[in-house]
Amino acid sequence: MTKRTPLIAGNWKLNKTIDESKALAGAIAAHVGAGLACEAVVGPVATSFAAVKQSLEGSAVGLAAQNTHWEDSGAWTGELSPTLLVDAGCGYCIIGHSERRQFFGETDEGVRKKVGALLVHKVVPILCVGESLEQREAGKTLDVVLGQIDAATEGYDAVALAPLVVAYEPIWAIGTGLTAKAEDAQEVHAAIRGRLAELKGQSWADSVRILYGGSVKPSNADELLSQPDVDGALVGGASLTPDNFIPIIDAGVRRAES
Ligand code: PEP
Repeated sequence: MTKRTPLIAGNWKLNKTIDESKALAGAIAAHVGAGLACEAVVGPVATSFAAVKQSLEGSAVGLAAQNTHWEDSGAWTGELSPTLLVDAGCGYCIIGHSERRQFFGETDEGVRKKVGALLVHKVVPILCVGESLEQREAGKTLDVVLGQIDAATEGYDAVALAPLVVAYEPIWAIGTGLTAKAEDAQEVHAAIRGRLAELKGQSWADSVRILYGGSVKPSNADELLSQPDVDGALVGGASLTPDNFIPIIDAGVRRAES
């Protein structure tokens, strides 16, 4: 079986001032230190990139952006680009988060272009996919999720897509305290991996990290991460305090060492 390095990613969303971000990043970096069996990254708001980067210096924790445009520069008021993310020290970028799809009109085609732009700039895309409660209740979970996977990867080959990370985030579980049962998450993760294999080949599919996101917390992290196709977590609310996020990183380490 392919050994995949677990990834624990924190999405701070629209939270934390520069000073608060520095303090949180510093606490996480101090716990993690210079070496870690899994990967850990934090995604602050862009105004805190420089300060967080400084706090993470010397630690194994990476820096993630929460969004990007697909263009490098130009007349795109309010946007960030992959070039600027690299300049700011971001090695990862979350894209296609359900909040962006829902509230900012992000489309499958826009997400696809962002995947390509990030790959060109060697920023790891953390591609979010997930179904709404209505879609789940209508039995459409796999149609929706696999459709998002198809759309986001279209036109790129397995070599270009090598660094891609997928995050399965059922929308009904985000910020609600509801979590998918570990077996239900596994079922969707296995289906995603199966589709990746059909699209671009089994060996690439076996190497892709598929994270689970949706109310992950210290008390459920180990169970979710014990599933064979759950390779890490994308964490919102519980990434905002060291007391919650550090034990989830520790669960990632246990997964790596299992
Ligand atoms: C998220 O928004 O990516 C997320 C998973 O949030 P939460 O952990 O708060 O459900």
